[in-house]
Amino acid sequence: MRIIESLQEIRDICNGLKGEKVVVPTMGALHQGHVALLSKAKKFDHVIATLFVNPLQFNNSFDFNSYPDTRSKDIEIFKKNGVDILFAPRNQEMLDNNHIDAIEANKSGDIWEGSYRPGHFTGVLTIVNRIFELIKPQHAVFGVKDLQQICLIYSKLSLSHNVRIIPVKTARDNNGLAYSSRNLLLSNKGREKASIIFKALKSGKDYWNSHRDIDGLKNRIEEVLNEEASFEIQYIKVTSLSELSKLEKIDNFSGLFREEGITDYKIVMLAGYIEDIRLIDNLIVNSELF
Ligand code: AMP
Repeated sequence: MRIIESLQEIRDICNGLKGEKVVVPTMGALHQGHVALLSKAKKFDHVIATLFVNPLQFNNSFDFNSYPDTRSKDIEIFKKNGVDILFAPRNQEMLDNNHIDAIEANKSGDIWEGSYRPGHFTGVLTIVNRIFELIKPQHAVFGVKDLQQICLIYSKLSLSHNVRIIPVKTARDNNGLAYSSRNLLLSNKGREKASIIFKALKSGKDYWNSHRDIDGLKNRIEEVLNEEASFEIQYIKVTSLSELSKLEKIDNFSGLFREEGITDYKIVMLAGYIEDIRLIDNLIVNSELF
C-alpha cells in the first residue's frame, strides 16, 4: 500500500491509473464499520482510501480536538483490507483557500442532523468534492450510518463527478451499538448503556410494522430510550427521505438505494449523549436491506 500526502502526487497517480477506481473516505480511528466499507470496495481495480480529519465539518472545537487518532493502527487495517493507495493529506494543503471551492448544502443541510450542526454538511461536501476532484473515482463507498450525509453526497456530487455512490448498511457490535470512532471515548459501561439506542430503534421498527403510526413510533422510541437514565436525548426525528428529495428536486433516492418496490423511505434518526459523548444513529423502518 502506498501512502500519499501530496495533492499533486495523488492527482498524478490517479490520472495514470487504468481500470476502475473506488474511493473510501474516512476520518480514521477505524472500526468494523470502516472495514465493511472496505470489503465492498475490494472488487474494483484500484482501492483508494482517504484518511483526513476534516476540520470544516466540526462545529465544536472540543469535538474536533478530542477526535481519536489511531493512525498507525489504521494504516495496518487499511493494508489488511485491500487498500492499494492511502491518501492522507495534510490540513494546510487540503484546505488551501486558493484551491478549495465550498459546496453549500443549503436548505438540505439545515434540516434533521444539520439543524443541530450548522455548517456541518457544507464542510463534508466541500471536502468530499475535493477528494472526488483529485482522485476522479468511478465509485465511492459511504455508510448509511450517516444517512443525511450519503444522501447529500448522492444528490449534490455524484452527478457532477459521475461517481456511483455505494451505500453500506450500518455495522453494529453484538449488542446493537453502531460502530463509531467516538465509541472509543466511552467507558465499557458507557458502551453497554449505549446499546439502548439500537434497542429503541428496533422497537420503533417493530411498532411501525404493526401500527403504521408516526406519532406512536416516536413515542415508542422515546419510551425505550428513557429506560436508560444516563442517555440524554438530543432529538428523535421521524421523517421520510421524500422531505429531502423535495428540497433536492430529485424524484427519490431509488438511484442510491436501488431497492425494488420502495418509493419512499420512512426513517427514524436520533442523537443523544452518554458520558458527554454525542452519538447518532438511524434506522430505515420500511427497508429490509438497510
Ligand atoms: P468517518 O470516519 O466517521 O467519517 O466515517 C467514514 C465512513 O464510514 C462514512 O461513510 C460513514 O458513514 C461510514 N461509517 C461510520 N460508521 C459506520 C458503521 N457503523 N457502519 C457502516 N459504515 C459506517
